Amino acid sequence: MLAPPGQRPVFRFAPSPNGPLHLGHALSAILNHEMAQAVGGRFLLRIEDIDLARCTPDHEEAIYRDLAWLGLRWEQPVRRQSEHFGDYGAALDRLREMELVYPAFMTRGDVKSAVAAHEAAGEVWPRDPDGSPLYPDADRKRSETERRRLLAEGSRHAWRLDMAGALARVARPLTWRETGEGCEEEMQADPAAWGDVILSRSDAPSSYHLSVVVDDALQGITHVVRGVDLYHATSVHRLLQELLGLPEPVYHHHRLILGPDGRKLSKSEQSTGLAALRAAGASPADIRRRIGL
Ligand code: GLU
Repeated sequence: MLAPPGQRPVFRFAPSPNGPLHLGHALSAILNHEMAQAVGGRFLLRIEDIDLARCTPDHEEAIYRDLAWLGLRWEQPVRRQSEHFGDYGAALDRLREMELVYPAFMTRGDVKSAVAAHEAAGEVWPRDPDGSPLYPDADRKRSETERRRLLAEGSRHAWRLDMAGALARVARPLTWRETGEGCEEEMQADPAAWGDVILSRSDAPSSYHLSVVVDDALQGITHVVRGVDLYHATSVHRLLQELLGLPEPVYHHHRLILGPDGRKLSKSEQSTGLAALRAAGASPADIRRRIGL
């Protein structure tokens, strides 16, 4: 895996402190660490805590303990996203100046009812790669006067990307370089499959997609190594990078660790939590064996 010429490769593990790390996180963190070491690169840790309601300092402390126990070492200071909302706001402002974002007033419940009404009439509502319904176009089509009125009234809203408008602004085809599963390929990005993605939440002044793209650029990340559950999200990330003029990292999507039910592990499932396994007497070597390293 090669970094752009003259640049020391930079890898990152970017967990959200909203629950205990499990075996899947161990795989991701160790792979990043080892790939960085193998190419003389840097290994960064980033705390993705924009969800202030669910992320806690206790979970963050637990992340440091678990990773240190696994034998990983990372550079200081650790970037904590909640301390950088200004950076994400600046990126949102750029997209706003390009007239590619609009205020979105529908709640999750509103979307659900709109979709249910549509499907009751026998029509199929399009879904994104994660299975969620695409955001309806009512807010995008709203007049400027109406938008201003709703904003002035203080109506709760998020900010969404006008996907069609955004696609019209970037050169096609949009691709990324993927090195996962031993292959090195140019992948076709398909951001349209996600519809008008959220860029700033109603309860936080950013979103996963926006913060991850801004931070990967600000931290000079050359290699994004993460679970294959985020494979399709890469399409959105590539689009945002193009719109914002940000560099394009190499992507490596790795296998997931599945539970006995064949589903990906969840933070609420205690039996595969690293701290719980440690308390039950497991060693770092046991963890490596369990995740097939
Ligand atoms: N914070 C994300 C997670 O915990 C990972 C983001 C990424 O690696 O791009 O799933």
